Amino acid sequence: MSEYETVPAEVDEEDEIPPDHPRYEDLVTRHRIERGVENGITHLQGMHAEGRGSAFDYLLGERTIPSAREAERTAAAQLLLADKPVLSINGNVAALVPGEMVELADVVDADLEINLFNRTDERIDAIATHLRDHGAKRVLGQTATARIPNLDQERAKVDEDGIYAADVVVVPLEDGDRAEALGAMGKTEIVIDLNPLSRSPQVADIPIVDNVIRAIPNVTEFARELADADDHELRDIVADFDRDDALTSAEDAIRSGTLA
Ligand code: ATP
Repeated sequence: MSEYETVPAEVDEEDEIPPDHPRYEDLVTRHRIERGVENGITHLQGMHAEGRGSAFDYLLGERTIPSAREAERTAAAQLLLADKPVLSINGNVAALVPGEMVELADVVDADLEINLFNRTDERIDAIATHLRDHGAKRVLGQTATARIPNLDQERAKVDEDGIYAADVVVVPLEDGDRAEALGAMGKTEIVIDLNPLSRSPQVADIPIVDNVIRAIPNVTEFARELADADDHELRDIVADFDRDDALTSAEDAIRSGTLA
C-alpha cells in the first residue's frame, strides 16, 4: 500500500490531486496546462515546453536552489528600481500563475502585457479575460502596434506603451530569438526558465533558473521585503549579482545534484 492516495486517471478539478503526493506540484502544473489548452489560453506547443521544464525541474529536485533565490531577490530589487517595468505573459504563464503575475505587477507597479509566440486574436482575448478574472485591471498587448527590430513580423509585435517602451522586462519561458532581440533593444531582461542552457536565460541580465510557479511568488515576497529599501541598497543588490555564477550553479545542480 502506498503512503499517499493515488491520482485519478482523469483529473477534472485540481483539488482531486492529493496534496501529499510526492509529485504534487508537477501534477498540478500538468493539469493547469491541460486546462489552459482546453480553454484556448495555451497553445499545444505549450505542452511540449511544459514537458521540457518538468524534466529539468525533476533534476533540480523540484525546489528553489540558493542561486535561484538570490536571482529572485535581485529581480525584485531591479523591478523596484525600474522606471517602466513590464511583465510579459504567454500561454503557459497565463495558465500556471495568472493571479501571482497580477499580484507581482501590483507590488512593483508594473504593467502586464500579453506576448505570444503563436499569436491569434482569440488566444489574446481569452488570456486577457483570464487575467481580468484574476484581478488584472489593465492588460496590454491586445493592440500591438510597435515592432521589435530584427524579428519576423508575428513575433515582433509588442505594445507601444508596454514592452516597447519598458526599461525592465520580466519574460518567463521566453523564446530565445525574442529574448536576444529584446536584449539588443537595451532592455534589462529578467528571464525565468528551468533550462540554464536555453538561449533566453543565457542572454538575460538576471536569469532565474526555477519553476515559474515558485519563482513569481518568491520575487513578490522579496519585493515586499525590499519595499522600504532606498535606491542605494537596491543598486548594491543588483551590482552584487553574478549572472554567470547563477547559470553555472544551476547547471551544476542539474548535472551533479542528488535527488533529495
Ligand atoms: P530556446 O530558448 O533556446 O528557444 P527552447 O526551444 O527549449 O529554447 P521553448 O520550447 O521556447 O525553448 O520553451 C520551453 C522552455 O521553457 C524550456 O527551456 C523549459 O525548460 C522552460 N519551462 C517550461 N515550463 C517551465 C516552468 N513551469 N517554469 C520555468 N521554465 C519552464
